[in-house]
Amino acid sequence: MNNELFIGIDLGGTDIKGGLVDNAGKIVFETKIPTEAKKGPEHIFDRMSQLIQTLRDGAEAIVAGIGMGVPGQVDVDAGVLVEAPNLPGVDRFPVMDFLRERIDIPVILDNDANVAALGEHAFGAGQGVQHMLMITLGTGVGGGLILNGQVFRGAMGGAGEFGHMVVEADGELCGCGRQGCVEAYVGTAGLLRAVEQRLSNGEASSLAGISSEKRRPKDLGDAAEAGDTVAREVFSTAGHLLGIAMGNVANLLNLERIVIGGGVAAAGERILGPARVGFAETALKVSLKSLEIVPAQLGNAAGLVGAARLAMPVL
Ligand SMILES: [Zn+2]
Repeated sequence: MNNELFIGIDLGGTDIKGGLVDNAGKIVFETKIPTEAKKGPEHIFDRMSQLIQTLRDGAEAIVAGIGMGVPGQVDVDAGVLVEAPNLPGVDRFPVMDFLRERIDIPVILDNDANVAALGEHAFGAGQGVQHMLMITLGTGVGGGLILNGQVFRGAMGGAGEFGHMVVEADGELCGCGRQGCVEAYVGTAGLLRAVEQRLSNGEASSLAGISSEKRRPKDLGDAAEAGDTVAREVFSTAGHLLGIAMGNVANLLNLERIVIGGGVAAAGERILGPARVGFAETALKVSLKSLEIVPAQLGNAAGLVGAARLAMPVL
């Protein structure tokens, strides 16, 4: 099995993670370096090329391919990072060409949400299905679509933006500048805003004891666990809207599975329970019948494993 390995790179706003992954999706070695995003793309990708070289030198097998997930929009064929909100100055940076001058194996890159979907599909909770959506709940709400067993990227690589499906006309403001997106309710900022609104309406909650700047989704989870009504209702409302959006996607695409991962998914059934209700209210019979909603299995490893999967031959 291990006569060849693949390098997976997970480029984030804070860290660049790199790993050696075997063709069964097992990480045999991993490491990370700080991204130092402020120093610009040449700095980032130059250090990344050194990281790749170090991984390759340390591998006890041939490195057969390199894949990378990046936090932004990608032109996959050209290997260009079109834009990434957390990496200033990277717009239209030719990642593949830049790395080709430094490393003699081509590096394939894709959006991190697509990469996570690929990882879960090949080695995690999405195994065995042809049509699935991976939703990542965190600061943002990411989506990666697998249709007919392959990542569906759309005309310009912009497909799968589940977080920006509008579930409330004239609703809350989203980070994308529009109103009523799923992310405006289920993203970290949206959850915290809902708490703030309820507190300023005079609702009683243990969360009032934490200043608004210091409040984190984990506090919300802890409060909900302890029975706090405000925390529970915030998750419930957000989960319900999440489920409505999932029902709409299922009606359009007749998916087999929706896999839910990311930090906020740690709230588990507090958010997934109401999501299942919203889904059941929205999905047509055929969608209800064919689709299951399951938690992700790979956790933080999805980024590295999925990136490595990008570079593996299609099985
Ligand atoms: Zn939006």
